Amino acid sequence: MTEAAPKRQSCHGSCHCGLTKYIVFLTLPHPFSSSHPPQGMAQEVYRCNCSTCYKMNFFHVHPANPRDDFILLSPLDPDHTLSTYQCHDKQRKFYFCPKCGVRCFTFTGVGETNVVSLTELATEDQERKKKEGNQEIWRAKWDGENATRPYVSVNATTIDLREDFDLRVLIEQKRVQYFDDRSEPEEKKKEARWDRPHYGGSY
Ligand SMILES: [Zn+2]
Repeated sequence: MTEAAPKRQSCHGSCHCGLTKYIVFLTLPHPFSSSHPPQGMAQEVYRCNCSTCYKMNFFHVHPANPRDDFILLSPLDPDHTLSTYQCHDKQRKFYFCPKCGVRCFTFTGVGETNVVSLTELATEDQERKKKEGNQEIWRAKWDGENATRPYVSVNATTIDLREDFDLRVLIEQKRVQYFDDRSEPEEKKKEARWDRPHYGGSY
C-alpha cells in the first residue's frame, strides 16, 4: 500500500487536566528527517539522551515554523499560569501544568498574544472550522530572521491520539531521530541516528 502524500495537518493537544491546550501544525505522514540540530524550517521528531529530556521523558516534535506552526489556545499567559523549570543556560523554558504536571511544550524566545482566524490557519477539520472563528492565542513572537529564531518543541505524547501520528509506527519505521547530547563537551558528539538511541537514551 502506498503512503498518503504528506500534508499539513492541524493536531490538537493538551495536558491531562485540560488547562494547557494547543494546536501544532504538522506535515503528516511525518517524513524521514535528515538533520540535527533543527536549524532550518524542518519538522523533526526526536528523542534526546540529555539528562533533562531523559528524566522528563520528553518525546520531541519540533514543528517547522516556531511561530506559524504552534499556537497555544490556553493559557494565554504561560509564564504566569504554567509552572516553569529552567536549567543549564536557563534559556529554555520547560513548562508544565501546575495542576496535572504534564509537560506539553518547551520554549525559548519571547511569546505574544495575537488574534488569529483559525479557519485561515488551514485547519483541516471541517467541524472545528465552523466553530472556530477569530480567537485570541499565544505564540512565539518572531520576525522571521534566522538569528532570532525561537525554539518550540511539543511533547508528542500530549498530542491527541490520531492514526496518522502513531508513535508506535514512528518508532517501528525508524522515523524518530536519536540525538546524543550526553557526551561531554570534549568528546565528539555522535551523529544523530534512527536505528537505536545513544547511550543513556530511550526509545
Ligand atoms: Zn494539566
